[in-house]
Amino acid sequence: MKNQFLCTNCAKQFPSTNHSPRCAECGEPLSFVTIQSGSINELSPLKYPFWQRYRDFYPYVNSSADVSLGEGYTPLTSLAKLADELDLDSVYVKNETINPTWSFKDRGTALGVLFALNLGYTRIGTVSTGNMAASVAAYGARANLETFILVKGDMAVEKVSPIAIYSPKLIRVFGDYGQLYDTSLKIGADNQIYFINSDVPIRVEGSKSIAFEICEQLAFNAPDYVVIPTSAGGNFRGIMKGFREFYNAGLIDSIPRPICAQSTGCAPIVKAYQQRSYAIKHFGQTSTIAHGIGNPSPPSGNAVLRLLTEYNGSAVAVSNEEIVSAQKQLAACGIFGQPASAVPLAAVKKLRQDNTIEPQATVAVIATGSGLKYTAAFEYHQLQSYETKVAELEICLKSLLS
Ligand SMILES: *Cc1c(COP(=O)(O)O)cnc(C)c1O
Ligand SMILES: [Zn+2]
Repeated sequence: MKNQFLCTNCAKQFPSTNHSPRCAECGEPLSFVTIQSGSINELSPLKYPFWQRYRDFYPYVNSSADVSLGEGYTPLTSLAKLADELDLDSVYVKNETINPTWSFKDRGTALGVLFALNLGYTRIGTVSTGNMAASVAAYGARANLETFILVKGDMAVEKVSPIAIYSPKLIRVFGDYGQLYDTSLKIGADNQIYFINSDVPIRVEGSKSIAFEICEQLAFNAPDYVVIPTSAGGNFRGIMKGFREFYNAGLIDSIPRPICAQSTGCAPIVKAYQQRSYAIKHFGQTSTIAHGIGNPSPPSGNAVLRLLTEYNGSAVAVSNEEIVSAQKQLAACGIFGQPASAVPLAAVKKLRQDNTIEPQATVAVIATGSGLKYTAAFEYHQLQSYETKVAELEICLKSLLS
């Protein structure tokens, strides 16, 4: 039973060895069955990966293979200054930028590799334009698996190299990128390659641990809101599934209201939400500096819409200018995230302005990936430095004292 897949829409069941991550009946994404009870194993994060500490919530992980690179267990940092500025009770940043390949993707990838090993695979793969590719390449190397990474044909060299460094079999594919998701799953099934794509059930499971950790870090007082920069929707689904499972297990007594944060240049979920529609439409041409959240046709988009309804959430889109300004603000608090990571903070500002989020609220924003992943964003900032000779250093310094 715990090893079953359940359709997120029609609740039809499938075996979790099922190759397709979609429901054969209605086409919507499948998910591992929601856990109803469990407790935390007080194993030290210094010695045990998160799936062992939370093993009651990962019953299908029964490989003891040593694949961890130290993913997860990230800080939850309280930003009092920002909370003041935004007139909020508290603002916390879940800092995913410090994962082994600098984004939250590593959580789901580690589980994906374990699951692939459980199923007897020696080959893994992914379709990605960035962080997921680097993550799967790194974990494939770590686990010594034959690793296939499919990227867009016209991907820039500076984005390819940080993936290629892990020596995967990296293929640039020209043609319809959206179609590649389905094609890869089919080719994977025929060639014994386990594809860990954006919203496959096992990757979604990885993101549960973000919620688990937030609960522990807040002494089991769940925040009122959790704000998630959303592209395919896998991370959003995982975080909400995590809160739901801790709630079911009696570890927390409320579930945060989710905010789906997107950029105005790619906002298919926000658009559907505003039109009170339950079916995502292709967004068409996208244009955003938040590359991490640039999927115009999110495979878990409808599932996110259902979760927004279930948990009384909201969805909001922010502009490039708002993203750049939030990125600067986060950095001013000591956290340098890529533009996608700044989107939730920009969203919170907006939702405070129209009072969708009330001043008494505790808000957790998810900073999903590191700023060093996308240094091109520097050009949107007016960054300052000064210059002087040693002999004149003190004069220079004095002129800068405040
Ligand atoms: C992948 C990614 C996202 C979006 O996650 P989805 O599961 O596709 O919704 C957001 N931010 C960053 C930095 C990412 O790498
Ligand atoms: Zn279904």
